[in-house]
Amino acid sequence: MSDNIQTGIQNRIDGMHQRVQGLRDADMYFYNMPVSELKGSSEVVVSGRTMLMLASYGYLGLLGHPRINKAAGDALEKYGSGTHGVRVLAGTLDIHVELEKTIADFKNTEDAVTFSSGYVTNLAAISTIVGRRDIVLCDKYNHASIVDGCLLSGAELKRFRHNDMDHLEGLLKRYSDRTTKLVIVDAVFSMDGDIIDLPALVELCRKYDAWLMMDEAHSVGVLGKTGRGIEEHFGMQDCVDVKMGTLSKTIPSIGGYIAGNSGLVNLLKHAARGYVFSAAIPPAQAAAAKAAFEVIIDEPDRIEKVQQNARIFIDGLQAIGFDTMSSETAIVPVLCGTDEKAYELVRLCQSQDIFVLPVVSPAVPEGLSRLRATVTAGHSKAQIEHALSVLEIAGKEAGLI
Ligand SMILES: *Cc1c(COP(=O)(O)O)cnc(C)c1O
Repeated sequence: MSDNIQTGIQNRIDGMHQRVQGLRDADMYFYNMPVSELKGSSEVVVSGRTMLMLASYGYLGLLGHPRINKAAGDALEKYGSGTHGVRVLAGTLDIHVELEKTIADFKNTEDAVTFSSGYVTNLAAISTIVGRRDIVLCDKYNHASIVDGCLLSGAELKRFRHNDMDHLEGLLKRYSDRTTKLVIVDAVFSMDGDIIDLPALVELCRKYDAWLMMDEAHSVGVLGKTGRGIEEHFGMQDCVDVKMGTLSKTIPSIGGYIAGNSGLVNLLKHAARGYVFSAAIPPAQAAAAKAAFEVIIDEPDRIEKVQQNARIFIDGLQAIGFDTMSSETAIVPVLCGTDEKAYELVRLCQSQDIFVLPVVSPAVPEGLSRLRATVTAGHSKAQIEHALSVLEIAGKEAGLI
């Protein structure tokens, strides 16, 4: 018995080693590359080479912003590098409370609670608000942390076809006898860059008396005139019950949050295991996150810029002949089909100092492997045009266009 278990683990280790080594040998391994320096808000140094960053989640170009850096530095001086432990006991600092107030104001909710990562936020929140006998309905393309949160909760998990409101309605009808129903979706899907159909979704949730939880990892700072996210994008208000977001993407820090009514936040602050049993966000990171929300409010041009850059980039790629799927946002898939084609296109771009990465199965469905590029407010028009010209040559060489 114990021999079999040992063999099972060793097989996993060996299997992954072979897969990674095979890619390295073929010069097709692009993951876990250390960046050694930031250069402005759009370039990085990797292996001594300056590269145009086209894979960043920092949609508003806030990484390295002087005001945010200063806030982090001041907090480090004042509080030290960590906290005294978990939030419920000795780990809460006044800046955590201020950060949560800032988030609640930004998301127009009564209150908010932060966790030590976005991933943990989904795990902790979902497994607290639903449990056995409840049902959760998820978009098929929801982020892995949502899926893991549902599994951890023990609730029954049903998935509807991507952004397919008819399929969702069918499921809501079928399970209408359940007293507790939660629908969870990404606002902007992290692999495809498309936007959930919020108006239809809200109508269904109201009609079938389901709660709605929205993951705004890729929509805060990106959607809406002032970057407030999905509701602002559709001109809607107060239609999402559980508003989740991260502090690691547009907000250049670490952590995640749930914004909602004060009862919900109170529940999470006392019953969510990822909050009660895991240490608080470090002071410098809490201060950086708070300052970043303030910068978003004070520098609204950045939001217009990222939206503009996304349009220029998507239009440019389509004009060259690439398939950008249904993206309307700063996440832009460049469809390649097979894993090999995606690796090839990335290798060609990287040889021209464009930092882009491939996404292959199982992260995306087989046959839909892609180069996944992101644009930010930190890119100039000239940089985007340069990236397009590199992609055009690379796409021809790879036989994609
Ligand atoms: C990145 C991401 C998360 C996790 O956030 P982290 O802060 O990186 O842990 C959750 N949901 C979605 C949709 C994401 O893209």
